[in-house]
Amino acid sequence: MDNSTLARDGGTPVRTTPLPSVFDSSGRRFGDEEVKAVERVLRSGMLSATWGTEVPALEREFADLLGAGHAVACSSGTAALHLAVAAVNPEPGDEIITTPISDMGTVFPIMMQNAVPVFADVDPITGNLDPAAVAAAITPRTKAVMAVHLFGKPAPIRELRELCDQHGIVLIEDCAQAYLAPVGDTYVGRIGHIGCFSLQQTKHISAGDGGLVVTDDAALARRMRLFADKGWPRDTDERTYLFLALNYRMTELVGAVTRAQLSRVREIVADRRTGAARATAGIGDLAGITAPPDGGDHVYWQYPLIIDPEVAGDMREWAAALTAEGVPAVGGYLTSPLYAAPAVRERVTYGQSEFPLQDVEYPPGLCPNAEDLITSRLLVLPWNENYTDADVDDIVAAIRKVHSALAREA
Ligand SMILES: *Cc1c(COP(=O)(O)O)cnc(C)c1O
Repeated sequence: MDNSTLARDGGTPVRTTPLPSVFDSSGRRFGDEEVKAVERVLRSGMLSATWGTEVPALEREFADLLGAGHAVACSSGTAALHLAVAAVNPEPGDEIITTPISDMGTVFPIMMQNAVPVFADVDPITGNLDPAAVAAAITPRTKAVMAVHLFGKPAPIRELRELCDQHGIVLIEDCAQAYLAPVGDTYVGRIGHIGCFSLQQTKHISAGDGGLVVTDDAALARRMRLFADKGWPRDTDERTYLFLALNYRMTELVGAVTRAQLSRVREIVADRRTGAARATAGIGDLAGITAPPDGGDHVYWQYPLIIDPEVAGDMREWAAALTAEGVPAVGGYLTSPLYAAPAVRERVTYGQSEFPLQDVEYPPGLCPNAEDLITSRLLVLPWNENYTDADVDDIVAAIRKVHSALAREA
């Protein structure tokens, strides 16, 4: 058989050695600094940030990195988003507008605070919130918009901020996939009132799990700090609990590792961008495939391609064929839009109450662009800072090979 036969059909795969991956050391930059950080904390005997020094230092360093007034550390990206929603302090039944394409960590904090997620449709190429759809979804009960910078591409965040300002509502940015993605002379997370980040295993930088929020607003920062610590005002001498809240504290071990990771994040972003530019240059001529649009602002948590099924073929077939070539790819990113998950559409929440969604419906077709992306257009390739030029060339070769087999004849 010649080299054009797909591996899926018994041909020779483009690649037999695994690409660097975020699931082992091949695709993570944990070095001596991280090892020393863990040892430093352990030997100090103080692993809790309540009395420790690492997490307070991390908060200052992260705020400085982004030019923010305040940073608050917590235990996950989901916790960071929960801090943000809790700081907004919606009344039960108030609405927060968000996207149907994200991690569920974007949506559950809204429901946990007894607010109702309202899903606005997305741009058909980037998968980011469409400001016109957000505008159309605003009601007198809207308290906030929660935007996601999907796969590392900034959402139209200035337009969203303007819209929120017109309506006197809060803009929360979910930056879990978009460390240091530039917006003009600043970064994502700095346009909204609150920016939220994750340190989960697969993000640009990681400490296993962890979260960070940034804001310029001292009152929001204090509310978020209290919410991560049971409402306990440790800056006073009272042992009291000011409002209903949880323990979302980051540990000193996580704080120390994250400090070391912060020193690497610029280079990680730059290296991901270099590899992605090489890939995009290698596939630009392929009919029916749209590479990620990059105005110098994409930080490539993943490398999402848009497949036109009429021209380039079936997305799921693409994912399986690429994976067989040794280049893992996932069709659709999600199985279904977030509003179709049982917890949301079937209102599996608190006991049998269906609260706070008892009066809401999330029918199929609610966000057509999002559904189209998930069911037939979005092909997501994992991306990594440790890809070499040769790795990227293999990815390009695999995409070109699958294209010549699956694309409809012109
Ligand atoms: C990873 C992620 C989250 C959740 O972060 P965790 O740290 O896993 O809780 C939320 N939103 C987006 C967009 C994410 O990618």
